[in-house]
Amino acid sequence: MGVLEVENLTIRYPDAEQPAVDGLSFTMERAEDLGIVGESGSGKTQTAMAIMGLTPANAMVTGSIRYDGQELVGARPALLNSIRACRIAMVFQDPKSALNPYVRVGRQMKRVLLEHGMCSNAEARARTLDMLSKVGLPDPERQYNAFPHQLSGGMRQRVMIGAALLGEPAVLIADEPTTALDVTVQAQILSLIRDLHAETNSALLLITHDLGVIAGNCERVLVMDQGRLVEEGSTRDIFASPQDDCTKTLLEAAPSIRSDILVRPVDEAAEDILEIDGMSVSFRDGGTGWGENLRAVRPLSFDLREGETVAVVGESGSGKTSLVRAVLGLVRPDGGAVSFLGRRLPSQLAERKNKSRRHLQMVFQDPLGSLNPAMSVREIVAEPLLIHGKGTKKSERLAEAEDILSRVGIDRALVGRYPHELSGGQAQRVAIARALVLRPRVLICDEAVAALDGTVRHEILSLLLAEQERSGLSIVFITHDLGVVRQISHRILVMYMGRLCELATNEALFSRPRHPYSKALLSSVPLPEPVAESVEVPLAGEVSSVLEPPPGCPFHPRCQHAVAVCSESVPEPGSCDGTIVACHRAAELDLAY
Ligand code: SF4
Repeated sequence: MGVLEVENLTIRYPDAEQPAVDGLSFTMERAEDLGIVGESGSGKTQTAMAIMGLTPANAMVTGSIRYDGQELVGARPALLNSIRACRIAMVFQDPKSALNPYVRVGRQMKRVLLEHGMCSNAEARARTLDMLSKVGLPDPERQYNAFPHQLSGGMRQRVMIGAALLGEPAVLIADEPTTALDVTVQAQILSLIRDLHAETNSALLLITHDLGVIAGNCERVLVMDQGRLVEEGSTRDIFASPQDDCTKTLLEAAPSIRSDILVRPVDEAAEDILEIDGMSVSFRDGGTGWGENLRAVRPLSFDLREGETVAVVGESGSGKTSLVRAVLGLVRPDGGAVSFLGRRLPSQLAERKNKSRRHLQMVFQDPLGSLNPAMSVREIVAEPLLIHGKGTKKSERLAEAEDILSRVGIDRALVGRYPHELSGGQAQRVAIARALVLRPRVLICDEAVAALDGTVRHEILSLLLAEQERSGLSIVFITHDLGVVRQISHRILVMYMGRLCELATNEALFSRPRHPYSKALLSSVPLPEPVAESVEVPLAGEVSSVLEPPPGCPFHPRCQHAVAVCSESVPEPGSCDGTIVACHRAAELDLAY
């Protein structure tokens, strides 16, 4: 008998034509690690919620879920409460919304022990402090008394994992536990889950859309599509020879840092289209209300050629978005200049001429948030033409909008719809069409595919590549996904705490990074290849506060190659075999990947 047995599980909702989960069956043994992979809407999270007894009141759940032989479907609340969070625990994707902002971390964590009567208050406190230290939080006493908002995203996820493991559950469900985290923090959290899973002998059910996460952490995997189980087997076998078309598509769409480069080389004669020279950005107060000055971007320079894609990568808070917002004139820089086709642009968008505004367009991460909900798709795309005085008649503008909408793959039937009637992928295509309708020379994409499923992301990236080939569009692509970077960029700018670490060609960065931080980023990426040897370089600790940067190289507290000079002076960017790198030891370190 398995510790968890799911048999013919079906979940229906009154208004839906298709069941959210349709006849799913699987068994988990104690200490086993099992992955469930699939795109949004495949039924992964619904399955987890049903196991936890947390499906909404209008869900009709049939079939059987047995924990240790006890039936959970239709079980009394008292039985569910005695098992939930104690015998079966769950780590959610977004720790911010899973933690109560009004209750101190320690009190929230120890509640599971107290509510299940597992020990006295004093012992619960001691066990919670012990768990805080086990999940790698520094100064457990301080974190115990902290409120959730006082911790970083990675620290909050550690708290969630600690809380889930406090009751020593027999089954741990982790639903997209690292999706909201930076790649380096993701590597730390996955390693923590692996270690604790091995130490506690719990069964681990890992739910994710990321095949790299499955490959490195699960022996067995279930592939779901539209509520149904389409393939099941050992991770190695499924990755080596997938049988179902859905699995094949998922694998093909998974970008990897070992993927082929998909972009064509930039034409040798291509001219510089954008030059960023010494750009720096600060925010007064830094949002702290204490009058401090947050230096979001330190003087930073790079250029962009016609038909070139430069990817900007780095952890949250590294200054990527502030940099491109200053380039676009959306925030006032402290210093530096932007030149477009050799002409210096005013720093503020309002002072720029229509021509340069037209040629620099942006696509944001959240397409629904960037599209006017009161306008139809066709009107949204035609609006920039009106603003820039293109097309004298409305009918001409709408026709041009429909033209570009069909180019980005939006069906004619959708052009009269409103944004809320679109899927995430359709909305992002509309946002791209709106940005492209003015035929810009430069497109700035800020995490433009981060919220999309693998296959939709693949389609959007192909669309951008096709547009680049067709029109010579230059692209600045901000992303935290290094697999995407590998496929679509010509050069990569790596940032850390507002500074340039490295500016290298795609080939150079992925074969021989010159900066230890670039190497750590690459090593943190989970590979969608279960047979791959891991060359993991653990990047310990978290990014220092930008309000109180460390002296010298900002990366030195986390750098395993640091020497005395690293904490004394800031390394300036310099050339090293064609790569621009800011590291005192760039020439001597061999970081070949
Ligand atoms: Fe590491 Fe020193 Fe280079 Fe900074 S300057 S990355 S601390 S070796």
